Amino acid sequence: MSPIPLSYDDKFEEINYCSELQKSAINEITKEFEINNKKLNEIIEHFRNEMNKGLTKHGQTVAMVPSYVTGVPTGKEVGTFLALDLGGTNLRVCQINLEGGGKISVKQQKYKISDSHKTGEARHLFDFIAECVDKFLVEFNIDCNSTRRLNLGFTFSFPVEQTAIDKGTLISWTKGFSASGAAGKDVVFLLQESLNRKEVPVKVSALVNDTVGTLLAHAYKYPNTLLGVIFGTGTNGAYFEKISNIKKLQSISSNADHMIINVEWGAFDNEKKVLPLTMFDNKLDRNSINPRLQIFEKTISGMYLGEITRNVLLNLIDRSLLFNGYSSKDLNDHYSFETEYMSSIEKDDTSTLETVKQILEESLNLPSTTLTDRQIVKRICQLVGFRAARLSSAALSAIISHCNVIESGCNIGIDGSLFLFYPGFKERIMNSLKELFGPNADKIELGLALDGSGVGAGN
Ligand code: ADP
Ligand code: MG
Repeated sequence: MSPIPLSYDDKFEEINYCSELQKSAINEITKEFEINNKKLNEIIEHFRNEMNKGLTKHGQTVAMVPSYVTGVPTGKEVGTFLALDLGGTNLRVCQINLEGGGKISVKQQKYKISDSHKTGEARHLFDFIAECVDKFLVEFNIDCNSTRRLNLGFTFSFPVEQTAIDKGTLISWTKGFSASGAAGKDVVFLLQESLNRKEVPVKVSALVNDTVGTLLAHAYKYPNTLLGVIFGTGTNGAYFEKISNIKKLQSISSNADHMIINVEWGAFDNEKKVLPLTMFDNKLDRNSINPRLQIFEKTISGMYLGEITRNVLLNLIDRSLLFNGYSSKDLNDHYSFETEYMSSIEKDDTSTLETVKQILEESLNLPSTTLTDRQIVKRICQLVGFRAARLSSAALSAIISHCNVIESGCNIGIDGSLFLFYPGFKERIMNSLKELFGPNADKIELGLALDGSGVGAGN
């Protein structure tokens, strides 16, 4: 068995096709998911134009949200504070200790957010968050009371129009959230109200996007950091921009040169002008709770990759080219094919694809599968996972080019389970950057910024 293909020069494994029809269908799908360098450059160019639009005017597709964070961490900051990270899948509460010398220690606890909290009333969601903070304080025996309130940095990874370091209104939910009564409201106020209601002695003193937090946390350790990125439930990035380039900012009462911009790149190409979307992407988008929104995110991030794969598999089943034409009740369920499965499937290097077999037959209750079935499923995962990494590299490249650091190089801090766990995700991005930038790509450092989204909230 060949190892995981990491560039288009690496051949995909041979499939033992049963018919010419099957072979031509897979070749067709393979072509649809491939993005050659010409197309990638087109995407990058459009991305750069969209960034410039967002810097010039409010309310653009790529929102380029000013964070009002102008300082760059020196690594010498010290102090203890709480951080709360509302991602798309988990809620994390952390106590963070900046020890100076670029050193950080963290105590943290994760809490799962239920679907009913995601889609019910916002008040219930924020009450649940306040309860988690309360539990955390008790569990870790953290010393605070109503006269000695702790400061909390709130990392909130949804699009927000920020007006001050501790104020920001939610533009819209993403990543499967739809809790009512939050859009257009100040999320710091909503959280503080819930904390007060539950008598939790904590003051929300800063609001940051997870990308901004990731960037700050990585910069605390590596001064050459330009960009903080999330590849998790969703995807987004934040970088240091010259204030003189942020044309839409009327006045800024700081004599700093740079401000962190939260790109909100998940919304890139909502107009569907340049991304090579397949019918499988369009089906996912149509059936999502936010159709026509977050189009770029829907081709890249953890919440969606499994669903794209599922759409391809169902199409092949309907054409009697897979599983003898039979699906299962489980596979018919939306979002039943988890992105985690793709990681395990891509890693399966047994000659009979035993892990693939186990996932299909045990987790998804498909009746017996043939080796050809399993080879096809693996190929589809590779195509979807590969394309996600290629498109991710387009976002990174656009920002590297925009900031003019191709020659000098930079550090990029990345957080999120997709980047952490998906086999070859980093290497595929790196190979793509090499194709785009040649030997200069060696000066780009992609680093894991674990806990970044929490740590940065205190900077
Ligand atoms: P968040 O984005 O909510 O902060 P994470 O960074 O943990 O949270 O990302 C969660 C996403 O990562 C989920 O959408 C999930 O599908 C995906 N994910 C989790 N584990 C894996 C894995 N082993 N392989 C690929 N994707 C994974
Ligand atoms: Mg996160």
